[in-house]
Amino acid sequence: MLKRNSSLILLLWLWMCSTPSFATLLSIDESTTTPLNLTPWLMVSHPTSAKEFTEIQALPKTDWHNFTNKDIQKLSGHDFWLSFSLTSPDETLSRILALDNPLLDKVTIYHLVNNKLANTVLMGDTFPYNERPFLSNIFLYPFKLNMDDTHTFYLHIQTEGSAAIPLNLWSSNDLAQIAESTAVEHGFQLGVLAAIGIFSLFIAIASGSFSYSYYSGYVLSMTLLVATINGFAFRFLWPNWPILQQVMVPFLLPIVMAFALMFTEKILQLKYLNRRMLLTCRYSAVYILCIGLATPFIQYGTALYIEIISVAVLSLVLMVFAITQAINGHKLARMYTIGWVSMLTGACISSLLYLSVIDLNLKPQTPVMLGLTFEIIFMSLVLAIRYNDERKAKLRIQQEALRQAQKIRSAREEALKAEAESNEKLEQMVQERTLELEITLRELHEVNQKLTEQSTIDSLTGVKNRSAFDKRLIAESRISRRQETPIALLMLDIDRFKLINDRFGHLAGDEALRTIAQTLQQHLKRPTDLVSRYGGEEFAIILPNTAEDGALQVAETIRDAVASLHFEWEGVAIPLTISIGVSADIVTNDQHSTKLLEQADKALYQAKNGGRNQVSLFSSVQARPVPN
Ligand code: GH3
Ligand code: MG
Ligand code: MG
Repeated sequence: MLKRNSSLILLLWLWMCSTPSFATLLSIDESTTTPLNLTPWLMVSHPTSAKEFTEIQALPKTDWHNFTNKDIQKLSGHDFWLSFSLTSPDETLSRILALDNPLLDKVTIYHLVNNKLANTVLMGDTFPYNERPFLSNIFLYPFKLNMDDTHTFYLHIQTEGSAAIPLNLWSSNDLAQIAESTAVEHGFQLGVLAAIGIFSLFIAIASGSFSYSYYSGYVLSMTLLVATINGFAFRFLWPNWPILQQVMVPFLLPIVMAFALMFTEKILQLKYLNRRMLLTCRYSAVYILCIGLATPFIQYGTALYIEIISVAVLSLVLMVFAITQAINGHKLARMYTIGWVSMLTGACISSLLYLSVIDLNLKPQTPVMLGLTFEIIFMSLVLAIRYNDERKAKLRIQQEALRQAQKIRSAREEALKAEAESNEKLEQMVQERTLELEITLRELHEVNQKLTEQSTIDSLTGVKNRSAFDKRLIAESRISRRQETPIALLMLDIDRFKLINDRFGHLAGDEALRTIAQTLQQHLKRPTDLVSRYGGEEFAIILPNTAEDGALQVAETIRDAVASLHFEWEGVAIPLTISIGVSADIVTNDQHSTKLLEQADKALYQAKNGGRNQVSLFSSVQARPVPN
């Protein structure tokens, strides 16, 4: 007992020598609950000049005070020392020092056992991940606590930004449990965020929707930010690039905010509802991105400070916008407000926990993470509703357009049908008219033909008249000339016709003319032969392709036929005879036909002189009568 007491006194003395004498020695044993928050035992010093560990050890008591959150409330650069001591009087214990702030730049742990420097460890996210004494996303330092040994720790904290010091003492059991639960908790959270982000990204790509693009941008950048803050990104994404770890938070924060602004603008449909709010959102996004780009050129702490203030202000602005739109009756704005408020509430509670204003037996980051997860899930719901509303509206418009198109199509079809019908009618009418016209034309043609024919017929005798004779003579003369075939002309004159007229009257004369004309017609066999009344009681006959002999034969036949007629008038037989002059030749020139006519006439004169009722052929020497 005495031995034990004396050893305790010795230990106490040693401890007095090795630690700041004002600090309370933490005595633990197997039953001390872990994890044990070390904050109440932490002493802090902010030396202005001292940099070396030996100098720190030698600092007077007045330079140390109990650690409070005030020591870390500024966001600019931190450089301070922490110290605490612990002992395990009864048994040997294995413990782990856990510093749960993965963003600390540089932490140097001086581990003294019984006032002797046993180990110095350098940690922090400015060093490659693999150099940590214990591979974990938070800083862990395992050590063995031998019975009655006094362990004193000096922690030199050098960091930009948040210097939260959640320092705990874990047992190895805690390590397993906490590491596992933290991994599950963070993994689940990151998994949910990443899944929503990637899912939204796919929807954005598939649908080309800006809302989903911004939302996926927001969620994915937020996921990366969360992964960076809790050390997972450093551990898994860029373990060998501590420099990236330094810039990721100030780089990601503006991106997250910019996406949030653009996404909000879409959700609240500010483009259609409020132009001033829309411009505010857009300018704010540009502003925050500019800040993000300027970060490398500004001191880390200052940049982070500006960013956090900006993000806080902009978040409030967005909330005001959402509430305004919600009051104006915008359905989605109401839901957006709920999501956004839950996130901000989480952020506020977390801030209060960090600053130890309240104590809820929660990890400070838990409320903000819960709020954030809720917000993101809720926003995806809002987005889905918006997308559905838009889809329905589009569908309505499409249907309307389709209806209009159908109307137009049916109207056009009707018009086409009417046009086709009228075309058909028109065509039918045209056909009818054309037919009528054709009939009329044919009739006209027939009438014309009749007229022409009539104009060529001698009305008294029914044979061709003089003009028909003249035309035919010209035509047949041309043929004769071209084909060098002879043409014959017969000039006929009724003998002593005057006497008939005088004795029996003109009607008898006319009847005699008709009878003789018929006889002449009957005795011409060839279709090309032509009989015509040349004038008064004279007839002329054209016999194409007929030489003198043939012509004489025909003339003789005719003469005989007329002489053989039994013509009676009022019971009195009247003898009829005719004299015929014949000329025939191959026509050689244009005047030849006239000449042939004259020659036939001369031959006729000759026949008359010869005693009548005879045929006379014109010969170049003299027209000679042909004997009966
Ligand atoms: P010739 O034998 O010398 O010919 O004696 P001809 O009496 O026939 O003499 P001419 O040729 O001079 O007589 C012509 C007469 O024919 C005159 C006229 O009375 C008669 N004549 C002429 N044309 C017509 C007619 O269209 N109808 C009637 N009935 N007689 C006509
Ligand atoms: Mg005569
Ligand atoms: Mg006569």
